[in-house]
Amino acid sequence: MAKEKISIIVPCYNEEESLPLFYNEIIGIAESMNKVDFEFLFVNDGSKDDTLEIMRSLSKKDKRVRYISFSRNFGKEAAMYAGLENAKGDYIAVMDADLQDPPTLLPVMYKDIKENDYDCVATRRVSRIGEPKIRSFFARQFYKIINKISKADIVDGARDFRLMTKQMVDAIVEMKEYNRFSKGIFGWVGFKTKWLEYENIERVAGVTKWSFWKLFLYSIEGIIAFSTMPLVLASLFGILFLFVSFALIIFIIVRTLLFGDPTSGWPSLVCIIFLVSGVQLFCIGIMGQYLAKTYLETKKRPIYIIKETEKDKK
Ligand code: UDP
Ligand code: MG
Repeated sequence: MAKEKISIIVPCYNEEESLPLFYNEIIGIAESMNKVDFEFLFVNDGSKDDTLEIMRSLSKKDKRVRYISFSRNFGKEAAMYAGLENAKGDYIAVMDADLQDPPTLLPVMYKDIKENDYDCVATRRVSRIGEPKIRSFFARQFYKIINKISKADIVDGARDFRLMTKQMVDAIVEMKEYNRFSKGIFGWVGFKTKWLEYENIERVAGVTKWSFWKLFLYSIEGIIAFSTMPLVLASLFGILFLFVSFALIIFIIVRTLLFGDPTSGWPSLVCIIFLVSGVQLFCIGIMGQYLAKTYLETKKRPIYIIKETEKDKK
């Protein structure tokens, strides 16, 4: 019987320092799991350093190493999608290049998925050590909000590090949306998932590619992609203000009838105009967000563009 194969997908953006360290670590694990075959699929997401060079030389000396190199930086979501779409293994794992996803968990994950009939073994970190406090705070709030307003089950602290069956990966690849929010997509497709927990580990080398601003935009992306609650909110605002203005109109009519009209109330009028137009702009903004996403989806642009793979260098 042919051995089963695990594909390891690694999105890399400027990881020239981490990638060799990652490779050394992962082949050690691969050696220890000699009952399965491995395939390493590195995705170069338009790195500006020598990441691609490293991938080329690794794939030259190790037949298990494949790589896909993008024509520019498309983002981690696109890199993961490219990996999932092109992986050939029976089981497929996604891992970061910076060793923040401990490869030592792989044997545990494989065992779980094989013996306990899971479709997916995913990881979440239970602490956020080594992360700015303010960032942790906002991250927590984000998970609280999105789980209230969306059907996709998005787990706090969930990492993209997970081992999945080919069947589940096929379901994910079927979701060809351009605005990708994997944390939501993984939950949306369903299947039986087991969660492993571990403490946060800081990256071995290089720097994180996520600024606070990038994370903020990403969280908006997640909300817009998996919830239409903000649109409902906009309508609720509208209804609320309608009621308030009705009440005010009646109040003013009654007051004028009873006490005449002493033309006062100019400041309050200005305040109301400001408030109402603010709410209107806010709501139009929300609609604009959805419209913008719809606009991008209807263009049906490719999620990524490949410039080179290991096959081009043979
Ligand atoms: N990454 C990528 N494209 C990007 C940004 C990041 O492929 O545009 C990769 C990066 O090389 C790493 C993983 O995504 O392997 C996670 O990135 P990082 O460690 O910077 O994020 P953090 O762990 O700080 O959330
Ligand atoms: Mg990292």
